[in-house]
Amino acid sequence: MISCNHAAMLIDKKEATSISFMESLKLKFHVLLCATCKKYKVMSKQIDQTLKKYVSQHNTVNVHLSEEKKEAIIRKLNE
Ligand SMILES: [Zn+2]
Repeated sequence: MISCNHAAMLIDKKEATSISFMESLKLKFHVLLCATCKKYKVMSKQIDQTLKKYVSQHNTVNVHLSEEKKEAIIRKLNE
């Protein structure tokens, strides 16, 4: 059986990209027997969904600098 550290790494990897069939089997087997990693898997998914929601909401925010602030930044860069 894989270690809890390995299981946590696979859970994070699965959320970020994808894992192989064998990795998936090892993870499923571990989570079946380990209550801590089962909880971590649920919490990790919730955190990931919350972050994705936050990022998608804040990507649409338009940020505009006033002409005064643009000129002030340009002045500072030229100093
Ligand atoms: Zn575990």
